[in-house]
Amino acid sequence: RKTGYRNFPMVPRVVFGRGSFDQLGDILLPVRRNAEAPVIFLIDEVFERNELVARVPVMFNDKIIFVSADEEPKTDQVDALVALIREQFSELPSGIVGIGGGTLLDLAKAVALLLTNKGSAKQYQGWDLIEKPGIYHAGIPTISGTGAEVSRTAVLLGPSKKLGINSDYTTFDQVILDPDLTIGVPKDQWFYTGMDCYIHCVESLNGTFLNAFSQSYGEKALDLCKEVFLGDLTPVESRDKLMMASWHGGMSIAYSQVGVAHALSYGLSYVLGVKHGIGNCLVFQHLEEYYPEGVALFKKMMKKHGIILPKGICRNLSESEMDTMVSVSLSMKPLWENALGPSWKERVHPDTLRKIFREI
Ligand code: NAD
Ligand code: ZN
Repeated sequence: RKTGYRNFPMVPRVVFGRGSFDQLGDILLPVRRNAEAPVIFLIDEVFERNELVARVPVMFNDKIIFVSADEEPKTDQVDALVALIREQFSELPSGIVGIGGGTLLDLAKAVALLLTNKGSAKQYQGWDLIEKPGIYHAGIPTISGTGAEVSRTAVLLGPSKKLGINSDYTTFDQVILDPDLTIGVPKDQWFYTGMDCYIHCVESLNGTFLNAFSQSYGEKALDLCKEVFLGDLTPVESRDKLMMASWHGGMSIAYSQVGVAHALSYGLSYVLGVKHGIGNCLVFQHLEEYYPEGVALFKKMMKKHGIILPKGICRNLSESEMDTMVSVSLSMKPLWENALGPSWKERVHPDTLRKIFREI
């Protein structure tokens, strides 16, 4: 027996159910300190002209900030949002509410942390660098798959790396899981973000860090993904189940790690700005060597839903860009160690990665 097991935080409060978004007002009431301390709602811009906006429980001098999810969240974007909030309000907000996909959820987490921790977001990319609890933050996913609603990380693109702010204070204080919020998600995006969850399961279940805790969540999430992407569910069932798959997939990697697909996808995203969901898919199709069964099933899912991935993404890369892509991927040490074991360095060659990237 060993000691020193990680003591992970979990989301302390969660609501699940169709229409549960309308409970947000009641949930926030006890959180509001006074009329001067607003709640800031960070909402994906796709909802700007949506009926959802009228349902946001705005009171006193609360503020809605619409944010585009066209690009993945950046450290200086977090700094700018924090500066804006500090400038406009004399008091620290009562809370931050993120409404959207992984992009908005991670932004909300990071803004909540940077309102109480000095300096710039880039200083905190890494593990356990955050010193003080952030302000109250709630997350409301509108697309399912990333697991960002449960995780203790806020993934950000910084000047020198794409890395999460991993800390015990990152985890949301409250999550609202309302599957109806995912109704308008375009089909391709539904598939890409859903596959993020599927790939989390495959990487966790086939990793060397696997344990009964991770396995129990990972197997459940994998079963749910199979039902959603290969079964015959009604749209309502499908939305309910994918939302819970995302949750379980996120829980599964909490106590293990992701693997080869995420390492390569981070490289792709860092150099070319390819978004996480589609980046994972682009990479994963070429990983038969590492995840034979997982990739076979993935191809079946693609076929069933008529998904066609773009080709030639890395065609025009210069040698130095390719080198950066490879080195960013190889710098994700815990991911490789989970995938290939402690002697992973002997088992993965930069040329193998170059070859995979060239095929994408
Ligand atoms: P996203 O948040 O970028 O959203 C994808 C697209 O779907 C966007 O265009 C968005 O506007 C749109 N969208 C979202 N909800 C919609 C709705 N209901 N109707 C119509 N359109 C909608 O994508 P994502 O895949 O959810 O998140 C990706 C991000 O999550 C990446 O930045 C990645 O790094 C991060 N991530 C974080 C974690 C974590 O644990 N923190 C885990 C995995 C991924
Ligand atoms: Zn992921």
